[in-house]
Amino acid sequence: MGVDLHCHSTHSDGSLSPTDLIQLALTNQATMISITDHDTVSAYRDLPSEIGLDLVPGVEFSSAWRNLDIHVVGLNVDPYSVDMISVCTEQAKRRLRRAEKIAKNLFSKKLISSVDAALEGVKKIADGGTIGRPHFAQYLVEIGSCSDTGAAFKLYLSAGKIGDVKDEWPHMAEVVGWIKSLGGVPVLAHPAKYKVSLSKLVSMIEEFKTFGGRSIEVTSGYQNPEKTKLLADLSTRFNLSASCGSDFHSLEKRWSQLGKTQDLPAVCRPVWDEWS
Ligand code: AMP
Ligand code: MN
Ligand code: MN
Ligand code: MN
Repeated sequence: MGVDLHCHSTHSDGSLSPTDLIQLALTNQATMISITDHDTVSAYRDLPSEIGLDLVPGVEFSSAWRNLDIHVVGLNVDPYSVDMISVCTEQAKRRLRRAEKIAKNLFSKKLISSVDAALEGVKKIADGGTIGRPHFAQYLVEIGSCSDTGAAFKLYLSAGKIGDVKDEWPHMAEVVGWIKSLGGVPVLAHPAKYKVSLSKLVSMIEEFKTFGGRSIEVTSGYQNPEKTKLLADLSTRFNLSASCGSDFHSLEKRWSQLGKTQDLPAVCRPVWDEWS
């Protein structure tokens, strides 16, 4: 299909610069992409002069809903507006406070020998991008506390583990409100990835719509066709448009290839109809 409305650059936890991402998208024959870094739009101030495809400005905000970490993508936002810079600055402060809590938790279990050294280490790995758990995973590998980043997540950073600190995120309703006031389309990111029952997923989508949400990612990365069908049905049931994204982070993760998203089921109303 050549449309990929969810991927990450070095401005958050991706491994390619915005220029390299765009180059790869062109190589993979994508026609429309959105770079949706976690809680930042700084990639949009770091673009090549020639783009060669339709680049939709986007962001992936972290939010909280019923004790879960929920991601809300904002598409077709103005990445240069003062209000956007302001909410991203607030999120960056939250991420820093959260990183301090994560480091303290890891220290309490003797997984790191110094909170300050760990914070310096993750900042160095993030290299100016938003700080997140993947940078902690890499740090734990670098200091020899974990064999690889997968193990670091499994043992210490995934949901419910010591390094999973989520009390910093604003409520989903607030984040949806930011995106709407910034003129963008709020999209519920990767709904099939939350570890919830079907009835809770339905409540999540229902409330997301009540808060002003307009779209859900019907396809995300590699996804079981049954899940895609379920999400397509939910998008039509709640009259929400459908988005599609690879959630590409790096070339090493072969199951998620930039620009190679599954076609949206025919029943879906594509999200890009909302701005084109
Ligand atoms: P954060 O933004 O700090 O909450 O970190 C979330 C990011 O961590 C996600 O966007 C993924 O890139 C990555 N992630 C989450 N869970 C895992 C996992 N189990 N294994 C590897 N990476 C993960
Ligand atoms: Mn990520
Ligand atoms: Mn996400
Ligand atoms: Mn993502």
